[in-house]
Amino acid sequence: MARVAVIGAGTMGNGIAHVFALKDWDVALVDVDAPALERALATVRGNLERQIKKGALTAAQRDAALSRIRTAGGLEAVQGAELVVEAVVEREDVKAPLFAELDRLAPPAAILASNTSSISITALAARTRRPEAVVGMHFMNPVPVMALVEVIRGQATSDATATRVVEIARALGKTPVEAQDYPGFVSNRVLMPMINEAVFCLMEGVATAEAIDTVMKLGMNHPLGPLALADLIGLDTCLSILEVLHRGLGDDKYRPCPLLRRMVAAGRLGRKSGRGFYEYAPAAGARG
Ligand code: NAD
Repeated sequence: MARVAVIGAGTMGNGIAHVFALKDWDVALVDVDAPALERALATVRGNLERQIKKGALTAAQRDAALSRIRTAGGLEAVQGAELVVEAVVEREDVKAPLFAELDRLAPPAAILASNTSSISITALAARTRRPEAVVGMHFMNPVPVMALVEVIRGQATSDATATRVVEIARALGKTPVEAQDYPGFVSNRVLMPMINEAVFCLMEGVATAEAIDTVMKLGMNHPLGPLALADLIGLDTCLSILEVLHRGLGDDKYRPCPLLRRMVAAGRLGRKSGRGFYEYAPAAGARG
């Protein structure tokens, strides 16, 4: 049976575990934080339940998927994995040493993928002895719902690695799109400047948060306004990605809005902290 290890059981990690388990993969879900693992399992259970209510899944499929996910606190759980998908916090100082460790512990033939939104795949690959087997596998939030997987080739990623990851993404029912390793790839290179500009509009008093989001929803047919979307992604994650774009491309057009910095400093991180540009009831996704 195919085996994947998902490292990091936060917003993205639980969704990634969910989609692999539903397609018959054995999943080892790893996090350094035990409560995060418990929350992740509860979220997967809740989301599978929702799919049953919609008629997209049977109770037997739910039970089978749940039985395929085992949780672990240590990286030894990558043993036997064909694929490792890293989904820890968006910080290079955390991801880079983690890749060195994954390289040491994962089977020699395993592909090491990162779900990073913006960090250089080439830089992560350089921390391993298998740069040809390191690739970006960028799922979108919420993973069980969103069709896209951006597949990013680092400087040394082999054709065999990229082809296999494209094949796996298709087998998960997703649509893979290939991109080269430049800051923010395609998705965040285009999305984050829009979110940042919406925050500048708010800071400068051009319009209220509700008005800005309404313009983009009704005027541009976006399902979610940019500020509501930033709350969903996490304002800390948005800030990190903008900093990568600003540093990596060296252009001040990517300068993070001071209001975004201030909100992150205040701990207003969006849905996950219960408050961002909008307020959220605990049931709406606050994770403590
Ligand atoms: P998150 O903060 O919700 O979860 C990160 C998890 O990683 C936490 O549970 C934390 O305990 C765990 N962790 C931290 N260091 C670890 C380590 N060394 N080993 C194991 N676990 C560790 O973050 P997220 O929103 O799920 O983002 C994860 C990754 O996915 C980031 O690279 C982010 O850029 C990317 N991403 C996020 C979104 C989004 O909308 N949130 C979308 C696409 C990609």
